[in-house]
Amino acid sequence: MRRRTIGGSGLNSDGKLNFNPKIGGDLTEFLPLEEAKKVIDDIDKTFQKYGVEQSSKYDEEKLEKLSTKAAQAEMKFVKIKQKHIGSDRLREVIRRFQEDLENRGVEFNLSTTVKDLKYDRGRITEVETSKGTFPCDYVIWAPGRKGSLNSTSLYDRLGLKYFFNPIDIGVRVEFPSSLMREIVEEYECWDPKVYIRTPTFDDKVRTFCTCPYGYVTIESYEDSLRGVNGYSKFKKWSDNTNFALLVTVGLTQPLNDTTEYGRRIAHVANILGGGKPLLQRYGDLRRGRRSKPESIKENHVKPTLSLDEVTPGDIGLAYPYRLVLDIKEELEKLNNIIPGIAEDSTLLYGPEVKFYSRRIETVEKKGFRTLQTSIQNLFVAGDGSGYSRGIVGAAWTGIIAARGIKSLD
Ligand SMILES: Cc1cc2nc3c(=O)[nH]c(=O)nc-3n(C[C@H](O)[C@H](O)[C@H](O)COP(=O)(O)OP(=O)(O)OC[C@H]3O[C@@H](n4cnc5c(N)ncnc54)[C@H](O)[C@@H]3O)c2cc1C
Repeated sequence: MRRRTIGGSGLNSDGKLNFNPKIGGDLTEFLPLEEAKKVIDDIDKTFQKYGVEQSSKYDEEKLEKLSTKAAQAEMKFVKIKQKHIGSDRLREVIRRFQEDLENRGVEFNLSTTVKDLKYDRGRITEVETSKGTFPCDYVIWAPGRKGSLNSTSLYDRLGLKYFFNPIDIGVRVEFPSSLMREIVEEYECWDPKVYIRTPTFDDKVRTFCTCPYGYVTIESYEDSLRGVNGYSKFKKWSDNTNFALLVTVGLTQPLNDTTEYGRRIAHVANILGGGKPLLQRYGDLRRGRRSKPESIKENHVKPTLSLDEVTPGDIGLAYPYRLVLDIKEELEKLNNIIPGIAEDSTLLYGPEVKFYSRRIETVEKKGFRTLQTSIQNLFVAGDGSGYSRGIVGAAWTGIIAARGIKSLD
Protein backbone atom coordinates (compact mmCIF):
# COMPACT_ATOMS: atom_id res chain seq x y z
CA MET A 1 0.00 0.00 0.00
CA ARG A 2 1.46 3.33 -1.08
CA ARG A 3 -0.06 5.33 1.78
CA ARG A 4 1.06 5.41 5.41
CA THR A 5 -2.48 4.56 6.62
CA ILE A 6 -5.15 2.09 5.55
CA GLY A 7 -8.62 3.18 4.33
CA GLY A 8 -9.18 5.28 1.19
CA SER A 9 -10.51 8.84 0.86
CA GLY A 10 -14.07 8.00 1.94
CA LEU A 11 -12.81 6.34 5.11
CA ASN A 12 -10.56 9.28 5.86
CA SER A 13 -13.05 12.09 5.17
CA ASP A 14 -16.76 11.46 5.77
CA GLY A 15 -17.69 7.78 5.90
CA LYS A 16 -21.19 7.68 4.48
CA LEU A 17 -22.23 4.05 4.08
CA ASN A 18 -24.92 3.10 1.57
CA PHE A 19 -26.25 -0.39 2.19
CA ASN A 20 -27.93 -1.20 -1.10
CA PRO A 21 -26.67 -3.76 -3.64
CA LYS A 22 -27.41 -1.39 -6.53
CA ILE A 23 -25.82 1.78 -5.13
CA GLY A 24 -22.08 2.37 -5.56
CA GLY A 25 -21.92 -0.41 -8.16
CA ASP A 26 -24.29 -3.24 -9.02
CA LEU A 27 -23.74 -6.37 -6.95
CA THR A 28 -26.58 -8.13 -8.78
CA GLU A 29 -24.26 -8.41 -11.81
CA PHE A 30 -22.29 -10.84 -9.63
CA LEU A 31 -24.89 -12.52 -7.42
CA PRO A 32 -28.65 -13.18 -7.35
CA LEU A 33 -30.49 -10.37 -5.50
CA GLU A 34 -31.17 -12.25 -2.25
CA GLU A 35 -27.56 -13.37 -1.92
CA ALA A 36 -26.42 -9.85 -2.76
CA LYS A 37 -28.54 -8.45 0.09
CA LYS A 38 -26.96 -10.93 2.48
CA VAL A 39 -23.46 -9.79 1.50
CA ILE A 40 -24.47 -6.16 2.08
CA ASP A 41 -25.84 -7.08 5.54
CA ASP A 42 -22.56 -8.81 6.39
CA ILE A 43 -20.61 -5.67 5.47
CA ASP A 44 -22.92 -3.67 7.75
CA LYS A 45 -22.21 -6.12 10.60
CA THR A 46 -18.47 -5.83 10.00
CA PHE A 47 -18.63 -2.05 10.43
CA GLN A 48 -20.70 -2.54 13.60
CA LYS A 49 -17.97 -4.74 15.00
CA TYR A 50 -15.55 -1.81 14.77
CA GLY A 51 -17.82 0.73 16.43
CA VAL A 52 -20.46 1.88 13.93
CA GLU A 53 -23.90 1.86 15.54
CA GLN A 54 -26.27 -1.02 14.88
CA SER A 55 -29.33 1.04 14.08
CA SER A 56 -29.69 2.92 10.82
CA LYS A 57 -32.28 5.57 10.26
CA TYR A 58 -34.36 3.54 7.82
CA ASP A 59 -38.10 3.93 8.14
CA GLU A 60 -39.76 2.28 5.16
CA GLU A 61 -43.04 4.13 5.68
CA LYS A 62 -41.45 7.56 5.90
CA LEU A 63 -39.19 6.92 2.93
CA GLU A 64 -42.17 5.70 0.91
CA LYS A 65 -43.85 9.07 1.56
CA LEU A 66 -40.74 10.88 0.35
CA SER A 67 -40.68 8.63 -2.67
CA THR A 68 -44.27 9.58 -3.52
CA LYS A 69 -43.51 13.26 -3.06
CA ALA A 70 -40.56 12.94 -5.46
CA ALA A 71 -42.63 10.98 -7.99
CA GLN A 72 -45.27 13.73 -7.98
CA ALA A 73 -42.53 16.12 -9.12
CA GLU A 74 -41.34 13.65 -11.81
CA MET A 75 -38.28 12.55 -9.84
CA LYS A 76 -37.17 9.15 -8.68
CA PHE A 77 -36.15 8.76 -5.06
CA VAL A 78 -34.22 5.60 -4.16
CA LYS A 79 -34.83 4.19 -0.67
CA ILE A 80 -31.56 3.12 0.95
CA LYS A 81 -30.45 2.04 4.38
CA GLN A 82 -27.66 4.46 5.27
CA LYS A 83 -25.22 5.17 8.06
CA HIS A 84 -22.88 8.07 8.57
CA ILE A 85 -19.67 7.59 10.54
CA GLY A 86 -18.46 11.23 10.39
CA SER A 87 -14.96 12.57 9.93
CA ASP A 88 -14.34 12.82 13.68
CA ARG A 89 -15.05 9.08 14.35
CA LEU A 90 -13.44 7.47 11.32
CA ARG A 91 -9.91 7.22 12.66
CA GLU A 92 -11.00 5.07 15.59
CA VAL A 93 -13.16 2.77 13.39
CA ILE A 94 -10.25 2.24 10.99
CA ARG A 95 -7.80 1.70 13.84
CA ARG A 96 -9.97 -1.12 15.24
CA PHE A 97 -10.38 -2.60 11.76
CA GLN A 98 -6.62 -2.67 11.18
CA GLU A 99 -5.87 -4.06 14.65
CA ASP A 100 -8.35 -6.91 14.21
CA LEU A 101 -6.91 -7.85 10.82
CA GLU A 102 -3.36 -7.78 12.17
CA ASN A 103 -4.40 -10.01 15.09
CA ARG A 104 -5.68 -12.45 12.50
CA GLY A 105 -2.35 -12.56 10.69
CA VAL A 106 -2.78 -9.92 7.97
CA GLU A 107 0.44 -8.03 7.32
CA PHE A 108 0.23 -4.48 5.94
CA ASN A 109 3.17 -3.19 3.93
CA LEU A 110 2.50 0.52 4.18
CA SER A 111 4.40 3.20 2.23
CA THR A 112 5.23 0.55 -0.37
CA THR A 113 4.57 0.98 -4.09
CA VAL A 114 3.77 -1.92 -6.39
CA LYS A 115 5.91 -1.30 -9.45
CA ASP A 116 5.13 -4.32 -11.59
CA LEU A 117 3.37 -7.68 -11.80
CA LYS A 118 5.62 -10.33 -13.32
CA TYR A 119 3.87 -12.58 -15.82
CA ASP A 120 5.02 -16.00 -16.89
CA ARG A 121 3.18 -18.75 -18.77
CA GLY A 122 -0.35 -17.48 -18.13
CA ARG A 123 0.13 -16.54 -14.46
CA ILE A 124 1.31 -13.67 -12.30
CA THR A 125 4.35 -15.09 -10.54
CA GLU A 126 5.81 -12.15 -8.59
CA VAL A 127 4.85 -8.72 -7.32
CA GLU A 128 7.69 -6.23 -7.66
CA THR A 129 7.52 -3.40 -5.11
CA SER A 130 9.63 -0.49 -3.91
CA LYS A 131 10.63 -2.72 -0.98
CA GLY A 132 11.47 -5.93 -2.76
CA THR A 133 9.91 -8.66 -4.87
CA PHE A 134 7.30 -11.06 -3.46
CA PRO A 135 6.34 -14.44 -4.98
CA CYS A 136 2.56 -14.95 -5.18
CA ASP A 137 -0.10 -17.59 -5.74
CA TYR A 138 -2.91 -15.07 -6.35
CA VAL A 139 -3.09 -11.30 -6.74
CA ILE A 140 -6.05 -9.01 -6.07
CA TRP A 141 -5.27 -5.80 -7.90
CA ALA A 142 -7.13 -2.99 -6.06
CA PRO A 143 -5.24 0.26 -6.62
CA GLY A 144 -8.25 2.58 -6.32
CA ARG A 145 -9.34 4.97 -9.04
CA LYS A 146 -6.15 7.05 -9.19
CA GLY A 147 -3.93 3.99 -9.11
CA SER A 148 -5.90 2.41 -11.94
CA LEU A 149 -5.59 5.51 -14.12
CA ASN A 150 -1.81 5.27 -13.78
CA SER A 151 -1.75 1.58 -14.73
CA THR A 152 -2.57 1.75 -18.44
CA SER A 153 0.80 0.45 -19.57
CA LEU A 154 0.58 -2.46 -17.10
CA TYR A 155 -2.89 -3.42 -18.39
CA ASP A 156 -1.73 -3.19 -21.98
CA ARG A 157 1.37 -5.28 -21.31
CA LEU A 158 -0.67 -7.97 -19.51
CA GLY A 159 -3.25 -7.90 -22.32
CA LEU A 160 -6.10 -6.89 -19.97
CA LYS A 161 -9.03 -5.44 -21.88
CA TYR A 162 -10.97 -2.46 -20.49
CA PHE A 163 -13.62 0.04 -21.52
CA PHE A 164 -14.68 3.47 -20.29
CA ASN A 165 -17.47 4.01 -17.78
CA PRO A 166 -19.64 7.13 -18.06
CA ILE A 167 -18.42 10.13 -16.04
CA ASP A 168 -20.38 12.35 -13.64
CA ILE A 169 -19.85 16.10 -13.94
CA GLY A 170 -21.66 18.78 -12.00
CA VAL A 171 -21.57 21.21 -9.11
CA ARG A 172 -21.67 21.19 -5.31
CA VAL A 173 -24.82 22.97 -4.15
CA GLU A 174 -24.82 24.73 -0.74
CA PHE A 175 -27.85 26.17 1.03
CA PRO A 176 -29.26 26.74 4.55
CA SER A 177 -29.71 23.48 6.46
CA SER A 178 -33.23 24.51 7.39
CA LEU A 179 -34.34 23.87 3.78
CA MET A 180 -33.63 20.18 4.11
CA ARG A 181 -34.54 19.74 7.77
CA GLU A 182 -37.83 18.03 6.87
CA ILE A 183 -36.06 15.39 4.73
CA VAL A 184 -33.16 14.84 7.14
CA GLU A 185 -35.06 14.91 10.41
CA GLU A 186 -38.71 14.08 9.71
CA TYR A 187 -38.17 11.58 6.90
CA GLU A 188 -34.89 10.54 8.56
CA CYS A 189 -33.01 10.48 5.28
CA TRP A 190 -29.43 11.69 5.66
CA ASP A 191 -28.30 11.36 2.03
CA PRO A 192 -31.31 11.35 -0.34
CA LYS A 193 -30.62 9.90 -3.77
CA VAL A 194 -32.91 11.70 -6.22
CA TYR A 195 -32.74 11.08 -9.96
CA ILE A 196 -34.32 12.97 -12.85
CA ARG A 197 -34.34 12.83 -16.61
CA THR A 198 -34.01 16.42 -17.72
CA PRO A 199 -36.90 17.77 -19.83
CA THR A 200 -34.74 19.31 -22.59
CA PHE A 201 -31.99 16.74 -23.20
CA ASP A 202 -33.37 13.69 -21.40
CA ASP A 203 -30.08 13.50 -19.49
CA LYS A 204 -29.69 11.64 -16.21
CA VAL A 205 -29.01 13.99 -13.30
CA ARG A 206 -28.85 13.03 -9.64
CA THR A 207 -28.12 14.25 -6.17
CA PHE A 208 -25.08 12.65 -4.57
CA CYS A 209 -23.18 12.78 -1.27
CA THR A 210 -25.46 15.01 0.77
CA CYS A 211 -23.67 16.50 3.76
CA PRO A 212 -26.30 17.80 6.19
CA TYR A 213 -24.96 20.58 8.45
CA GLY A 214 -21.74 20.05 6.53
CA TYR A 215 -18.82 21.76 4.89
CA VAL A 216 -17.58 22.13 1.32
CA THR A 217 -13.96 21.18 0.83
CA ILE A 218 -11.32 21.18 -1.90
CA GLU A 219 -10.57 17.93 -3.69
CA SER A 220 -7.36 17.65 -5.69
CA TYR A 221 -7.64 15.72 -8.93
CA GLU A 222 -4.77 14.52 -11.11
CA ASP A 223 -2.64 17.05 -13.03
CA SER A 224 -2.95 19.60 -10.17
CA LEU A 225 -6.61 20.20 -11.03
CA ARG A 226 -8.74 21.37 -8.14
CA GLY A 227 -12.37 20.48 -7.63
CA VAL A 228 -14.76 20.38 -4.71
CA ASN A 229 -16.35 17.82 -2.42
CA GLY A 230 -18.25 17.85 0.86
CA TYR A 231 -18.26 16.29 4.33
CA SER A 232 -20.13 16.46 7.64
CA LYS A 233 -18.75 16.06 11.12
CA PHE A 234 -20.46 13.83 13.64
CA LYS A 235 -20.55 16.57 16.29
CA LYS A 236 -19.54 19.96 14.89
CA TRP A 237 -22.35 21.15 12.63
CA SER A 238 -22.40 24.12 10.25
CA ASP A 239 -25.48 26.19 9.33
CA ASN A 240 -25.43 24.82 5.78
CA THR A 241 -26.14 21.60 3.92
CA ASN A 242 -24.48 20.67 0.65
CA PHE A 243 -24.73 17.97 -1.98
CA ALA A 244 -23.36 17.24 -5.42
CA LEU A 245 -25.64 17.58 -8.42
CA LEU A 246 -24.19 15.37 -11.11
CA VAL A 247 -24.92 14.89 -14.81
CA THR A 248 -24.00 11.46 -16.17
CA VAL A 249 -22.12 11.69 -19.47
CA GLY A 250 -21.30 8.63 -21.59
CA LEU A 251 -19.24 8.93 -24.79
CA THR A 252 -18.76 6.61 -27.75
CA GLN A 253 -16.99 7.63 -30.97
CA PRO A 254 -14.61 9.18 -31.83
CA LEU A 255 -13.85 10.02 -28.18
CA ASN A 256 -14.83 7.37 -25.64
CA ASP A 257 -12.35 8.49 -22.99
CA THR A 258 -14.74 10.10 -20.50
CA THR A 259 -11.85 10.85 -18.12
CA GLU A 260 -10.21 13.08 -20.70
CA TYR A 261 -13.51 14.92 -21.27
CA GLY A 262 -13.95 15.50 -17.52
CA ARG A 263 -10.36 16.68 -17.17
CA ARG A 264 -10.81 19.28 -19.91
CA ILE A 265 -13.91 20.72 -18.26
CA ALA A 266 -12.20 20.83 -14.85
CA HIS A 267 -9.22 22.48 -16.52
CA VAL A 268 -11.32 25.28 -18.06
CA ALA A 269 -13.05 25.89 -14.70
CA ASN A 270 -9.64 26.09 -13.00
CA ILE A 271 -8.25 28.44 -15.65
CA LEU A 272 -11.18 30.81 -15.13
CA GLY A 273 -10.73 30.52 -11.36
CA GLY A 274 -7.00 31.33 -11.48
CA GLY A 275 -6.10 27.79 -10.43
CA LYS A 276 -9.01 27.46 -7.99
CA PRO A 277 -12.56 26.13 -8.30
CA LEU A 278 -15.37 28.59 -9.09
CA LEU A 279 -18.14 29.73 -6.76
CA GLN A 280 -21.33 31.28 -8.09
CA ARG A 281 -24.70 32.34 -6.70
CA TYR A 282 -27.49 30.48 -8.49
CA GLY A 283 -29.16 33.85 -9.24
CA ASP A 284 -26.00 34.95 -11.06
CA LEU A 285 -25.83 31.74 -13.08
CA ARG A 286 -29.48 32.19 -14.02
CA ARG A 287 -28.85 35.75 -15.21
CA GLY A 288 -25.65 34.85 -17.08
CA ARG A 289 -23.30 36.97 -14.99
CA ARG A 290 -20.32 36.14 -12.84
CA SER A 291 -20.41 36.31 -9.05
CA LYS A 292 -17.98 38.71 -7.40
CA PRO A 293 -16.38 38.65 -3.94
CA GLU A 294 -18.73 41.49 -2.83
CA SER A 295 -21.87 39.65 -3.99
CA ILE A 296 -20.76 36.49 -2.16
CA LYS A 297 -20.05 38.51 1.01
CA GLU A 298 -23.51 40.10 0.87
CA ASN A 299 -25.24 36.80 0.08
CA HIS A 300 -27.70 35.36 2.65
CA VAL A 301 -26.01 31.96 2.42
CA LYS A 302 -22.42 32.17 3.63
CA PRO A 303 -20.01 29.70 1.99
CA THR A 304 -18.42 27.15 4.32
CA LEU A 305 -15.34 27.11 2.08
CA SER A 306 -13.03 30.09 2.56
CA LEU A 307 -12.87 32.65 -0.25
CA ASP A 308 -9.11 32.12 -0.22
CA GLU A 309 -9.75 28.69 -1.73
CA VAL A 310 -12.37 29.44 -4.41
CA THR A 311 -12.87 32.22 -6.92
CA PRO A 312 -16.28 33.87 -7.30
CA GLY A 313 -16.89 33.57 -11.05
CA ASP A 314 -19.09 32.13 -13.78
CA ILE A 315 -19.66 28.37 -14.00
CA GLY A 316 -21.78 29.13 -17.09
CA LEU A 317 -18.60 30.14 -18.93
CA ALA A 318 -16.69 27.02 -17.90
CA TYR A 319 -19.27 24.29 -18.54
CA PRO A 320 -20.94 23.35 -21.84
CA TYR A 321 -24.47 24.76 -22.29
CA ARG A 322 -26.00 21.31 -22.02
CA LEU A 323 -24.53 20.68 -18.56
CA VAL A 324 -25.55 24.13 -17.31
CA LEU A 325 -29.12 23.62 -18.48
CA ASP A 326 -29.23 20.12 -16.93
CA ILE A 327 -28.12 21.60 -13.59
CA LYS A 328 -30.72 24.38 -13.73
CA GLU A 329 -33.51 21.96 -14.65
CA GLU A 330 -32.67 19.60 -11.79
CA LEU A 331 -32.52 22.49 -9.29
CA GLU A 332 -35.92 23.76 -10.40
CA LYS A 333 -37.40 20.27 -10.03
CA LEU A 334 -35.76 19.73 -6.64
CA ASN A 335 -37.45 22.92 -5.49
CA ASN A 336 -40.65 20.85 -5.28
CA ILE A 337 -39.29 18.67 -2.51
CA ILE A 338 -36.71 21.09 -1.06
CA PRO A 339 -38.58 24.41 -1.27
CA GLY A 340 -36.17 27.34 -1.47
CA ILE A 341 -33.28 25.47 -3.06
CA ALA A 342 -33.75 27.23 -6.40
CA GLU A 343 -33.38 30.67 -4.76
CA ASP A 344 -30.87 33.21 -6.06
CA SER A 345 -28.79 32.90 -2.87
CA THR A 346 -28.05 29.17 -3.29
CA LEU A 347 -24.34 28.67 -3.85
CA LEU A 348 -22.84 26.51 -6.60
CA TYR A 349 -19.23 25.35 -6.62
CA GLY A 350 -17.53 23.72 -9.60
CA PRO A 351 -15.90 21.68 -10.90
CA GLU A 352 -17.20 18.62 -9.10
CA VAL A 353 -16.24 15.67 -11.25
CA LYS A 354 -16.54 12.00 -10.33
CA PHE A 355 -13.87 10.34 -12.43
CA TYR A 356 -14.67 6.64 -12.56
CA SER A 357 -12.21 3.99 -13.53
CA ARG A 358 -12.20 2.07 -16.70
CA ARG A 359 -13.90 -1.27 -16.33
CA ILE A 360 -11.47 -4.12 -16.59
CA GLU A 361 -12.97 -7.02 -18.48
CA THR A 362 -13.53 -10.01 -16.21
CA VAL A 363 -14.69 -13.56 -16.71
CA GLU A 364 -18.36 -14.57 -16.64
CA LYS A 365 -19.45 -17.83 -15.02
CA LYS A 366 -22.96 -19.30 -15.01
CA GLY A 367 -24.47 -16.02 -16.20
CA PHE A 368 -22.82 -13.92 -13.47
CA ARG A 369 -19.74 -11.77 -13.69
CA THR A 370 -16.68 -12.63 -11.55
CA LEU A 371 -13.70 -10.46 -10.73
CA GLN A 372 -11.23 -12.86 -12.26
CA THR A 373 -9.37 -11.29 -15.18
CA SER A 374 -8.24 -13.06 -18.35
CA ILE A 375 -5.15 -14.05 -16.31
CA GLN A 376 -6.27 -16.95 -14.12
CA ASN A 377 -4.65 -15.91 -10.81
CA LEU A 378 -5.17 -12.15 -11.22
CA PHE A 379 -8.35 -10.67 -9.73
CA VAL A 380 -9.44 -7.05 -9.55
CA ALA A 381 -11.40 -5.27 -6.82
CA GLY A 382 -12.41 -1.83 -5.60
CA ASP A 383 -12.98 1.36 -7.51
CA GLY A 384 -9.92 0.73 -9.67
CA SER A 385 -11.63 -2.29 -11.20
CA GLY A 386 -14.40 -0.03 -12.54
CA TYR A 387 -17.12 -2.11 -10.85
CA SER A 388 -17.57 -0.14 -7.61
CA ARG A 389 -17.86 3.50 -6.57
CA GLY A 390 -17.94 3.85 -2.82
CA ILE A 391 -16.93 2.26 0.44
CA VAL A 392 -19.56 -0.49 0.60
CA GLY A 393 -19.19 -1.20 -3.14
CA ALA A 394 -15.41 -1.51 -2.80
CA ALA A 395 -15.98 -3.84 0.16
CA TRP A 396 -18.22 -6.25 -1.75
CA THR A 397 -15.86 -6.39 -4.72
CA GLY A 398 -13.21 -7.61 -2.25
CA ILE A 399 -15.59 -10.34 -1.09
CA ILE A 400 -16.39 -11.38 -4.68
CA ALA A 401 -12.69 -11.50 -5.59
CA ALA A 402 -11.87 -13.52 -2.45
CA ARG A 403 -14.70 -15.98 -3.19
CA GLY A 404 -13.34 -16.31 -6.72
CA ILE A 405 -9.92 -17.28 -5.39
CA LYS A 406 -11.44 -19.71 -2.92
CA SER A 407 -13.35 -21.40 -5.71
CA LEU A 408 -10.04 -22.11 -7.50
CA ASP A 409 -8.33 -23.66 -4.48
C1 LIG B 1 -13.12 13.20 -0.73
C2 LIG B 1 -13.81 11.87 -0.89
C3 LIG B 1 -14.85 11.54 -0.06
C4 LIG B 1 -15.50 10.31 -0.19
N1 LIG B 1 -16.52 10.02 0.64
C5 LIG B 1 -17.15 8.84 0.50
C6 LIG B 1 -18.23 8.49 1.37
O1 LIG B 1 -18.61 9.25 2.27
N2 LIG B 1 -18.85 7.28 1.18
C7 LIG B 1 -18.45 6.41 0.21
O2 LIG B 1 -19.06 5.34 0.09
N3 LIG B 1 -17.42 6.71 -0.62
C8 LIG B 1 -16.76 7.89 -0.48
N4 LIG B 1 -15.71 8.18 -1.32
C9 LIG B 1 -15.25 7.16 -2.27
C10 LIG B 1 -14.38 6.10 -1.54
O3 LIG B 1 -13.27 6.73 -0.94
C11 LIG B 1 -13.90 5.05 -2.52
O4 LIG B 1 -15.02 4.54 -3.18
C12 LIG B 1 -13.15 3.91 -1.82
O5 LIG B 1 -12.09 4.40 -1.05
C13 LIG B 1 -12.63 2.94 -2.86
O6 LIG B 1 -11.85 1.96 -2.21
P1 LIG B 1 -10.66 1.22 -2.98
O7 LIG B 1 -10.06 0.30 -1.98
O8 LIG B 1 -11.13 0.70 -4.26
O9 LIG B 1 -9.61 2.36 -3.36
P2 LIG B 1 -8.78 3.32 -2.41
O10 LIG B 1 -9.51 3.55 -1.14
O11 LIG B 1 -8.40 4.47 -3.27
O12 LIG B 1 -7.49 2.47 -2.06
C14 LIG B 1 -6.53 2.13 -3.01
C15 LIG B 1 -5.19 2.06 -2.30
O13 LIG B 1 -4.22 1.52 -3.21
C16 LIG B 1 -3.04 2.30 -3.11
N5 LIG B 1 -2.30 2.18 -4.37
C17 LIG B 1 -2.63 2.62 -5.62
N6 LIG B 1 -1.68 2.27 -6.49
C18 LIG B 1 -0.72 1.61 -5.80
C19 LIG B 1 0.52 1.01 -6.15
N7 LIG B 1 0.98 1.01 -7.41
N8 LIG B 1 1.23 0.43 -5.17
C20 LIG B 1 0.79 0.39 -3.89
N9 LIG B 1 -0.39 0.94 -3.51
C21 LIG B 1 -1.11 1.53 -4.44
C22 LIG B 1 -3.54 3.70 -2.85
O14 LIG B 1 -2.51 4.51 -2.31
C23 LIG B 1 -4.68 3.41 -1.86
O15 LIG B 1 -4.19 3.31 -0.55
C24 LIG B 1 -15.07 9.41 -1.20
C25 LIG B 1 -14.02 9.75 -2.05
C26 LIG B 1 -13.39 10.98 -1.91
C27 LIG B 1 -12.28 11.33 -2.86
